[in-house]
Amino acid sequence: MLDRLRLHVYPKEPLTCAKLTQYASLKLETKRRAKPTLHLLHVGRRKEKLRSAEAGAAADPKHKESSAMEVSGLDSDGKEFKNAEEMWREQIGEDGEQQEKKTQWYREGISYWEGVEASVDGVLGGFGNVNEVDIKGSEAFLQMLLSDRFPNARNNQHLVALDCGSGIGRITKNLLIRYFNEVDLLEPVSHFLDAARESLAPENHMAPDMHKATNFFCVPLQGQREKNKKVGSKKVKIAKKGISADFTPETGRYDVIWVQWCIGHLTDDDFVSFFKRAKVGLKPGGFFVLKENIARSGTFLLSHSLI
Ligand code: SAH
Repeated sequence: MLDRLRLHVYPKEPLTCAKLTQYASLKLETKRRAKPTLHLLHVGRRKEKLRSAEAGAAADPKHKESSAMEVSGLDSDGKEFKNAEEMWREQIGEDGEQQEKKTQWYREGISYWEGVEASVDGVLGGFGNVNEVDIKGSEAFLQMLLSDRFPNARNNQHLVALDCGSGIGRITKNLLIRYFNEVDLLEPVSHFLDAARESLAPENHMAPDMHKATNFFCVPLQGQREKNKKVGSKKVKIAKKGISADFTPETGRYDVIWVQWCIGHLTDDDFVSFFKRAKVGLKPGGFFVLKENIARSGTFLLSHSLI
């Protein structure tokens, strides 16, 4: 069971996004012990009718059903889905066939990015011009978070962040490394991670006050237990390729785990297990920051091209 997470939404409006509301309800509930916090930045039109995404309220099972399951959707070929369940059934199948279809789901995700140029324009799907406004908005949010929740940040507190699905290190380079003494990057696509490593190397990048990018993890966010379970000898091959089993962060290393524009790659159950695994990586009082786009019309969109 996942400990209850407090959920803050920024800007301070509830969410329309079915998926995130659903996450808030289904996944971030139960026990009341330590309370890691998930901060959501959401990007989208402001006028929409929005639902409360207060995690406590959302943990109500009635809310769970009405908010999450009845939202219809479309894929990028125009195919309609009655609800998210139907979409997932088609994408990753029923229990019995899930393993294979899931592997396929992730393979397609990764191979898309493997064909993309390691540039800002590439990781932003041709919308490189969004970079500046994205960083500006995130910086305002981060400053608020730091001053509200890390009162000692100015007194030489050693701050560490993890940039998940980091791509070429755009967010680390333009934002995180200016505020955190150390930033680790997690990215499953090796040519992106190589580009990040190079551009963040001390000889290529002047970070303030000895701030640095420390670790570069070439792994996806979802666990890979299936592969390990299946055939013992395969395990070795996977390890050789530099893809470890589940990514589990070092205990208590991070003040902030930043997850931006990549969580949509995960199936719902992997989303849950990612947060369960990753929360051990947070220092007491640490935060997840999840930044995602929201659907415009209260429907969800499954994009086969990922953009
Ligand atoms: N967050 C970065 C990159 C966004 S592009 C930025 O905002 O600049 C989406 C990134 O998600 C790509 O780098 C892609 O390789 C990564 N990604 C795709 N599948 C993933 C997975 N299963 N786990 C983690 N990251 C994934």
